[in-house]
Amino acid sequence: MSSPVLIVGSVAIDDVRTPAGERENCLGGAAVYSAVAASFFTGVNLVGVVGSDFPGEYVAFLGERGINLDGLQRAQGQTFRWAGYYEAEDLNQAHSLETRLNVFADFRPDLPESYRDDEFIFLACIDPELQLQVLGQVRSPRLAVCDTRDFWIVGKRDALVEVLKKSDVVIINDGEARLLCETNNNVQAARRILELGPRFVIIKKGEHGAMLFSREAVFAAPSFPLAEVVDPTGAGDTFAGAFTGYLAGSGEISFENMKRAVAWGTVAASFAIQDFSLERMKTLAFEDMRTRYAGLKAIAAFE
Ligand code: AMP
Repeated sequence: MSSPVLIVGSVAIDDVRTPAGERENCLGGAAVYSAVAASFFTGVNLVGVVGSDFPGEYVAFLGERGINLDGLQRAQGQTFRWAGYYEAEDLNQAHSLETRLNVFADFRPDLPESYRDDEFIFLACIDPELQLQVLGQVRSPRLAVCDTRDFWIVGKRDALVEVLKKSDVVIINDGEARLLCETNNNVQAARRILELGPRFVIIKKGEHGAMLFSREAVFAAPSFPLAEVVDPTGAGDTFAGAFTGYLAGSGEISFENMKRAVAWGTVAASFAIQDFSLERMKTLAFEDMRTRYAGLKAIAAFE
């Protein structure tokens, strides 16, 4: 049975420079990328805040994707802003130039009553204290998935560890896992995170794919091979949004179904990085994703 997914995280205006060019004031934010990806699979209830400068066309786009914005607060002040760049030598590594929390600094999530029974939760990247506040307001979560990044691992480690302990699935990239667990070995990092309590850990390795770990099993998926990447921003969020959205849409929480969810996440992310901001996602049809899903399956299969 299909359930909606509740998503909290940054809703942002980004300035991004990549080897393919640069864009200023574009739509971004972890919650935005993940909500759009999840909306291909199920209903999405978004929680976040924007400032008075947030363009109406960005709100309209989220509405057109069918994303429920009852939990999106509008505050006086500036929207969360992130500026960063990627170098041609390593497109997997985002370099942050500026992170301005702005209206997120005083944001207190207050979930609409209609969100509080949601069972599938994606805690996209934002202050872990806000992630905890959201988790505290849902009555009976079946699957809480969380993501984070270097900024919060360094700045709010203790609160972040609380989030990890309360989550069922932790999604993290290899660089962040290294920072969090102080090891270069992904298997060791996954084990250390599993020891904190989550049932599953996913370590994303950019163009080298992703690995799913439980205490008993491991699954590895390649990334979808692309000859050109335009803007890697939001790849991780798109992966996580599609992953959680697929699980919520199918309603089945098992290791086998998580493998499919990892593949859908991989496919969605491969589209997101083919243009700046969410430009590619605006025109993406589910049929395009289905074709690439079959392609990924063929690439990964062997006897
Ligand atoms: P990703 O490339 O998947 O790691 O996510 C990039 C998105 O995360 C951008 O659109 C940013 O607006 C957002 N972002 C960057 N830094 C932070 C942060 N410290 N907290 C929350 N969101 C962030």
